[in-house]
Amino acid sequence: MLTDAKEMAPYLSDWRGRYHGAACAVVRPGTTQEVAAVVRLCAAAGVPMVPQGGNTGLCGGATPDGGGRAVVLSLGRLDRVRAVDADNNTIMIEAGCTLAGLQQAAIAADRFFPLSLASEGSCTVGGNLSTNAGGVQVLRYGNMRELTLGLEAVLPDGRIWNGLRGLRKDNTGYDLKQLFIGAEGTLGFITAAVLKLFPAIRQRATAWVAVPDPGAAVRLLGMMRAVCSDRVTAFELIGGTALGLVLQHIPGARPPLQAGGEWSVLVELSDSACNAELDTELERALTLASEQGLVGDAVVAGNLAQAEALWALRENISEAQRIEGISIKHDIAIPVSRIPAFLERARAALQHAWPDVRIVAFGHIGDGNLHYNLSKPAAADNRKFISRTPEVNRIVHDLVAGFDGSISAEHGLGQLKRDELLRYKSVVEMDMMRAVKQALDPHGLMNPGKVLAPVRPESRGD
Ligand code: FAD
Repeated sequence: MLTDAKEMAPYLSDWRGRYHGAACAVVRPGTTQEVAAVVRLCAAAGVPMVPQGGNTGLCGGATPDGGGRAVVLSLGRLDRVRAVDADNNTIMIEAGCTLAGLQQAAIAADRFFPLSLASEGSCTVGGNLSTNAGGVQVLRYGNMRELTLGLEAVLPDGRIWNGLRGLRKDNTGYDLKQLFIGAEGTLGFITAAVLKLFPAIRQRATAWVAVPDPGAAVRLLGMMRAVCSDRVTAFELIGGTALGLVLQHIPGARPPLQAGGEWSVLVELSDSACNAELDTELERALTLASEQGLVGDAVVAGNLAQAEALWALRENISEAQRIEGISIKHDIAIPVSRIPAFLERARAALQHAWPDVRIVAFGHIGDGNLHYNLSKPAAADNRKFISRTPEVNRIVHDLVAGFDGSISAEHGLGQLKRDELLRYKSVVEMDMMRAVKQALDPHGLMNPGKVLAPVRPESRGD
């Protein structure tokens, strides 16, 4: 248990340095039983609890409020692999294990765990489950929800629920694990999970491709999937401003193409078969796409190092943006078919409202998920820039709603989008969410102030 202010400090602010909170203690339990014991004590004393994993979340979900009454439970010491069942293609793993550690455990069993994020060295299984994390291979394998078969959780009253089943079929009533996935620690502590494994990947082929516009990117995706089937594992859209920031700020980053344009796609094929000739297949598909005018210049990585260099350009966008300075982020989802129209409409609306703002758009276009971020105009003052957040959120999120999209695709709500939710969810949906919260956490001690805002009837719209 940490109570010294200096020792607690890293647990009291978020990765972006945007949220700062206070706590009476940071507790680092090492087993599920220890988590349960701490929760029972907090519940008896009416003390709020904030679960924390790797603290890489981008919505302030793991940061306590400023009141100083809460206890932060950091689960990093729950980091054991409990069992690997290679024949069942499952792994039972504790919540504090890092995502990179989970991937390594799968490799050691000659299997593959597909979730992959730029933060994988620090983020944890518990955080991935609680945010229903996505990343770059959702297109083929789904997000964390689709990768989960069973869970163990400590309820807000300190009871332990053992739902660690490794079953792909189990229709025995409500699927309770789904409540905890994506709940951002508001319903209880996830302490362990049974996750799906897949055959080890033996071959990959990666290409960086210039596309004339986002519409061509969507058509290229359709064509690639028709030609290469589900070997298309990743399909990322990268805007010119995003790539420019990486080239400017990340040491060693080089332009991938001689004749790039405003939009690029990073595409990857992968296969568990050794004899698949993926490079040839990718080149053939890109030639076909080029004949149809969907592709300009393109490069297929010739070896692993080249593939990693291409991926580094994509994965360093968030870091480059952080170095560049303050930004307003939108993590949104739109039906894939409507992304080009959304990008066009959003650009026009923003340019009208704020001509010199820089649009940093990129994301998992194969999943319909865009990171639609705005970087500060070079001369603008930080505080003035950030003060326009509500105005641009309204422009972007109202457009997203108009396109039947979501204002949080993969990062969650945390504190950042908690109040936005009231505008975009119906009264019925908010009532169902509150009923679930009330049933599991009647005293409101689990991660208060995240996901659900206190009821304010006047702000509710349908
Ligand atoms: P934390 O930040 O510690 O917590 C996140 C939320 O989960 C909080 O609400 C917390 O209270 C809750 N929580 C944590 N552990 C538990 C637990 N055991 N039980 C109950 N609740 C818990 N996300 C994506 O989805 N896709 C991306 O591509 C992606 N890229 C990123 C790139 C960078 C550079 C960074 C910094 C972040 C990125 N993220 C991405 C966001 C982040 O890494 C994920 O949301 C990740 O899943 C958070 O894991 P964590 O362990 O750090 O959780």
